[in-house]
Amino acid sequence: MFRPMRRIKQQLSEDDAKSVLEHGTSGVIALSGDEGYPYAVPMSYVFDGNRIIFHSALSGHKIDAIKNSNKASFCVVEKDEIIPDEYTTYFRSVVAFGKIRILDRDEARDAAKILGAKYRPGFAEELAATVERNLDKMCVFVLEIEHLTGKEAIELVRAKSQ
Ligand SMILES: Cc1cc2nc3c(=O)[nH]c(=O)nc-3n(C[C@H](O)[C@H](O)[C@H](O)COP(=O)(O)OP(=O)(O)OC[C@H]3O[C@@H](n4cnc5c(N)ncnc54)[C@H](O)[C@@H]3O)c2cc1C
Repeated sequence: MFRPMRRIKQQLSEDDAKSVLEHGTSGVIALSGDEGYPYAVPMSYVFDGNRIIFHSALSGHKIDAIKNSNKASFCVVEKDEIIPDEYTTYFRSVVAFGKIRILDRDEARDAAKILGAKYRPGFAEELAATVERNLDKMCVFVLEIEHLTGKEAIELVRAKSQ
């Protein structure tokens, strides 16, 4: 049911799309918000195999939206280089679709450590203690990826083939 990209030449390979997710530091998750309004909100994340891990407070608009519908998409922009005299931007981005699953306590502990290690590498012991101390105060959830695409500006595609 997921749509193919119209400008197929601009589609990144699967490996390149995954690489954008690996290197990004934040993205925007799109959820079904209140009264039919989509709720798109920026989040830190870590890409972990076929899932994307997030952490959050236990309540709020985002959590209500997830409870309302577990379907989501997540967008990460890797590059946005404005080229004024060409009236364009040399961009590279990915969009992932999937379903969100809120993790139970044991899964949340492991996933929070993976997330923490991305942003504070090399402090495993300290991180484990921090996660343990905060585990009851946070919601850890994953987007299980069903469809992932990456796209870049045609100028970047052409530059590769020169
Ligand atoms: C780069 C970046 C990384 C972030 N990483 C995380 C993360 O890993 N985990 C996390 O929980 N939060 C993160 N945040 C904060 C996140 O964007 C939300 O503000 C936060 O999660 C609270 O969301 P909520 O829906 O529970 O807030 P609520 O207070 O329940 O939202 C109520 C309303 O406040 C407004 N609002 C909420 N957040 C924002 C926002 N960021 N900008 C403008 N208006 C807003 C919206 O109108 C929303 O409907 C990050 C923000 C940025 C910019």
